Amino acid sequence: MLCHLCYADPDAMPDCPACRGTGRATRIPLCEDPWNEVVPGLFQGGHDVRSQARTCVVGDEFDLVISMVTRSGYGPADGVEHHVLRMADAAVDAGVAARVQSLAELAAGAVRDGRRVLVRCSGGLNRSGLVVASTLVALGHDVPTALELVRRARGPWALTNPMFVQHLRTLEPVRPD
Ligand SMILES: [Zn+2]
Repeated sequence: MLCHLCYADPDAMPDCPACRGTGRATRIPLCEDPWNEVVPGLFQGGHDVRSQARTCVVGDEFDLVISMVTRSGYGPADGVEHHVLRMADAAVDAGVAARVQSLAELAAGAVRDGRRVLVRCSGGLNRSGLVVASTLVALGHDVPTALELVRRARGPWALTNPMFVQHLRTLEPVRPD
């Protein structure tokens, strides 16, 4: 995992106090909130939060839910559109990339239609971040902005999987006609 302060940026890494110049993180804390709004209508979250008092069970708060991880009893409620893509927190091969892209286009279309969309994984940091950042690119944001928006919403530990960041950097922003 990448350091949450310098993200292994060659310019910032040598003087980084968090990773002492290695560019790597050794532990990732959980988030405080079950989910956070990244841009209007687009939420990112997970199944685990820092405080056991907070629940990550999804009811009918959202119109569309995309889950990279599912757990019995965690919703969403019956009748809510729900898509599942189980994938490892690892490299993005061509098959995974294609499925992530099709979910990102689905999510972007829903956000454009004014629907509320949740993308969730375990901690709500990396796998959900991959799909949310891809959705932001499909909505017309450039890649650095997409990374920043995800980290602003979910904290600096979001998108610290270097293989996900590497994949996201290959995406071409969609320019509206
Ligand atoms: Zn660092």
